[in-house]
Amino acid sequence: MASKVYGIDLGTTYSCISHVDQFGRPEVITNLDNETTTPSVVLFDADDQAVVGKQAKRQARINPDNVSALVKRQMGDSEWRFTAHGKEWSAPAISSLILKALAADAERQIGEPVTDVVITVPAYFGDEERKATKLAGEYAGLNVIDIVNEPTAAAFAYGFARDGSADETVLVYDLGGGTFDITVIEMSDKKISVVATDGDHELGGADWDDRLANHLSERFRGECPGSEDPLDDSYGAQDLISSAEDAKQTLSGREATDVLVVHAGHRANITVTRAEFEQISSSLLQRTIELTRAVLKAAEARNVERIDRVLLVGGSSKMPAVAARLASEFGFAPELTDPD
Ligand code: ADP
Ligand code: MG
Repeated sequence: MASKVYGIDLGTTYSCISHVDQFGRPEVITNLDNETTTPSVVLFDADDQAVVGKQAKRQARINPDNVSALVKRQMGDSEWRFTAHGKEWSAPAISSLILKALAADAERQIGEPVTDVVITVPAYFGDEERKATKLAGEYAGLNVIDIVNEPTAAAFAYGFARDGSADETVLVYDLGGGTFDITVIEMSDKKISVVATDGDHELGGADWDDRLANHLSERFRGECPGSEDPLDDSYGAQDLISSAEDAKQTLSGREATDVLVVHAGHRANITVTRAEFEQISSSLLQRTIELTRAVLKAAEARNVERIDRVLLVGGSSKMPAVAARLASEFGFAPELTDPD
């Protein structure tokens, strides 16, 4: 019998590993911090040991020269190098460290070796980027069975194209940390194809964090007259942006949250409501709606008559405003299950 195959989402800001469980259902394997996703951030510490994930992300502000983030944006650029402690790393080499960390955590959680994998890539990735991704897997000592388009993998996770299912057209809305991808996929005559794809590779959850950090900075200065702007200092900015990201995630499940901002001898406890957060970030969401409209138009031009299902993926699609807006704008009933 062939060994089990694991599915890896090697993301721009966060990565994720999954498998098909004993009941035939796709399931995310949590990392050793019990989180579904692991930051795609690598820290090269003084001993040249690589630290991947939350610890690396947290230390980014203390040690920015030795921390690599957003390496996915460099995949396919064979000239690009990251230098840490005098040693050069290519994009596939850094990515392989992320893949190794994911595989190692999954092995510990599942109790069996992770060898055979499929790795997902954006639908727009070309040959060079796909080759670089496969190479990253090989550097990590993994057997890369296939490279799969992210929206296609997402659709599979939602049960698309299961045996016996009829022809279907799905819209995959993927809002991650640093990218937005919107894709129409169809299954027709047992063949899956990408009908149309669009997006913005500089739009993602980090922009929502920035909006909230700016808002927190204004409120902080309002409550502590005479204090400096935490955003003017790199340490303060990192701290505020990371508090903003935490608060944003909390607001996906609650109507309001408190953020404690401490900077240069001043402190303020700031309450932010979901309504306020949605208001200060509405133009960002609006941009995804416009791109959605564009991809629907492109699909229509290619004779797609209707969208059967709308699937939400990517961590930022957990923000309730996403599904609400897609419903009010297009009359869709978006599905949101395990978007990681
Ligand atoms: P990638 O862009 O690398 O594919 P993800 O799809 O995991 O990564 O998206 C990461 C983004 O999702 C980050 O900006 C993160 O803050 C955001 N995110 C994760 N969980 C939530 C949540 N509960 N509510 C809002 N945003 C979230
Ligand atoms: Mg992603």
